[in-house]
Amino acid sequence: MTIQENLKKIKSELPKHVTLVAVSKTKPVTDIMEAYDSGHRVFGENKIQEMVEKYEVMPKDIEWHMIGHVQRNKVKYMAPFVSLIHGVDNFKLLKEINKQAKKSERIIDCLLQIKIAEEDSKFGMSVSEALKILKSDAFSELKNIRVTGVMGMATFTDDKVQIEQEFRFLDSKFKQLKTIEAKNCNLKTISMGMSNDYRLAIDCGSTMVRIGSSIFGRRN
Ligand SMILES: *Cc1c(COP(=O)(O)O)cnc(C)c1O
Repeated sequence: MTIQENLKKIKSELPKHVTLVAVSKTKPVTDIMEAYDSGHRVFGENKIQEMVEKYEVMPKDIEWHMIGHVQRNKVKYMAPFVSLIHGVDNFKLLKEINKQAKKSERIIDCLLQIKIAEEDSKFGMSVSEALKILKSDAFSELKNIRVTGVMGMATFTDDKVQIEQEFRFLDSKFKQLKTIEAKNCNLKTISMGMSNDYRLAIDCGSTMVRIGSSIFGRRN
């Protein structure tokens, strides 16, 4: 199947309230243009440098999402254009995003990455850390960022029961975090689900899925 056929099929299956982030990491601009030409506008990359290079040569109505781990010293390169940063996992990073957003005269939307997997390799903060940040005065002073939701990655396993437990955990914590009131915090997005588990993620409450290989084919 072509990229356009894959996209069409996946989009036809997604409920209206679920946003599809087409994960184009490692894929060439020609592949992304194929998706673009069928009307898709939301793309996800996991490396800032690669995202910047693609941004520079591609149409400017694309929404670029940073889905990977973010190094603080590289935030400045994406601040002028990034539309959502999924992997914010500490307060210092939020502060840096705020600083760079201000320089670009923007407000940048962010998701807090919550650790739901049991592996040590996955990034993310605990729910208590997220609560502590969102309730702090230091956070409420960050006027150039907006926390719009949470992101999580399940354990890399074939055990569907475990994956489902991790997704349900994130959904329940999302509901808890949603009760926090702050000007720069308006939680509406749960980013969870990839090619292998997005249907399950949607059943568990996901509102944003990040799908790469099922659209663009396997990566090397
Ligand atoms: C690569 C990646 C995806 C997409 O993975 P697929 O299995 O190709 O759909 C989703 N989320 C993150 C954070 C990724 O790095």
